[in-house]
Amino acid sequence: MKSRYSFKDYDNKAFYNSAAWQRVSSAYMNSRSYICERCGKPAVICHHKKWLNGENVKDPYVALSFENLEALCLECHNIEHGLNHSVAIFDEDGDISRVRESQEAKEFKKNQEQIENLLRGIESRKE
Ligand SMILES: [Zn+2]
Ligand SMILES: [Zn+2]
Repeated sequence: MKSRYSFKDYDNKAFYNSAAWQRVSSAYMNSRSYICERCGKPAVICHHKKWLNGENVKDPYVALSFENLEALCLECHNIEHGLNHSVAIFDEDGDISRVRESQEAKEFKKNQEQIENLLRGIESRKE
């Protein structure tokens, strides 16, 4: 999945752009065959059931756990977050690369060991 996204009301862009998130979200979306878990249309977004904020983005067990993820199409995702909640889709040439690393992302990186453990668990679950 090439598209990237982030929410404008808080700065988790660096998290969404992280290698760990790219790996976990694509593994999860693959495991759901890129099908929306609510309506069966093609899914484009890996949603966090427990929404991410400036605090829990630092917790890999919330931010990177399969248990907290849901494959959604854009429509269902907009409904989940409310229609006023804007979602920006970035393509490969989007401006996300210009985003500076946030404090949250730096703290997130401190949890590298937990992240590696989670990734190992996810990868061993794949058949
Ligand atoms: Zn849907
Ligand atoms: Zn969401």
